[in-house]
Amino acid sequence: MLKYFDPHIHMTSRTTDDYTNMYNAGVRALIEPAFWLGQPRTHVETFDDYFQSLVGWEKFRASQFGIRHFCAICINAKEANNEKMADEVMELVPRYLEKDNVVAVGEIGYDDMTELEHKYFKKQLELAKKMALPVIVHTPHRDKKNGVIASIKLVREVGIPEDMVIIDHNTEETLPIVLETKMWAGHTIYPRSKMDADRMVELVKKYGSNRIIVNSSADWGVSNPLAVPYTAELMLKSGISKEEVEKIFWRNPIELFAKSGTFTPEEMEVELEFDQAVLFQGNSVLRGQQPEVRKNN
Ligand SMILES: [Zn+2]
Repeated sequence: MLKYFDPHIHMTSRTTDDYTNMYNAGVRALIEPAFWLGQPRTHVETFDDYFQSLVGWEKFRASQFGIRHFCAICINAKEANNEKMADEVMELVPRYLEKDNVVAVGEIGYDDMTELEHKYFKKQLELAKKMALPVIVHTPHRDKKNGVIASIKLVREVGIPEDMVIIDHNTEETLPIVLETKMWAGHTIYPRSKMDADRMVELVKKYGSNRIIVNSSADWGVSNPLAVPYTAELMLKSGISKEEVEKIFWRNPIELFAKSGTFTPEEMEVELEFDQAVLFQGNSVLRGQQPEVRKNN
């Protein structure tokens, strides 16, 4: 069975059933970028606790179902519009970027393309450059084309190596623009809207698999945490080679995010061992069930 990497999914909003189903479908690693939670936060301390959970509890929770959990840290575009709070969050960000499951700065970028979004997007690109970390760039859902063009321009202005950057949430219209650069092109498979699995198959038939990445971006909204294995299997059925599917859904995200120094491609090939009897700060994912244990040999 092929192994899959979902490089953009917000597991904080998902259930243990999702983890089990993802594991059973072949997902072995994921990245949870920091983003907003559906309503704006009003205190910097809630960001602090959120970042703590991304590097702590959520990483533990994923591990209990055999999935490697990595994350990206940032002040997201939407909440960057609260300048006072954004400045306070920016003081926390560098400290979290050094934690041991952090692979990138993200997801940063433009939402409404305001001046404040631009200011914190730029500051965080500079920080990623200084810390030699990959960057996950969110692109706006409205006026996406101009958002993508402006994002590419800013990445170049800051001078971060282009192969350290993924421009995410692409469509038929924006993919060729990203492929003209050396940046990676991310695609989010949404249920019944924007970009779907059938359209993704067509894009791969047309453009191949170089620098192409696919994710679910599943979160608290209508979304599908199994979008990655679903799309990969659809590609196989549509005649795209196993080699190319493996590249898009496993080797490409590994190549990009291993640049963080957080993991090596070799260690990703080893199944994660776990024991559900283990506790995290005294807490378990179980509710009286028999703990599952998985060991390699
Ligand atoms: Zn996201």
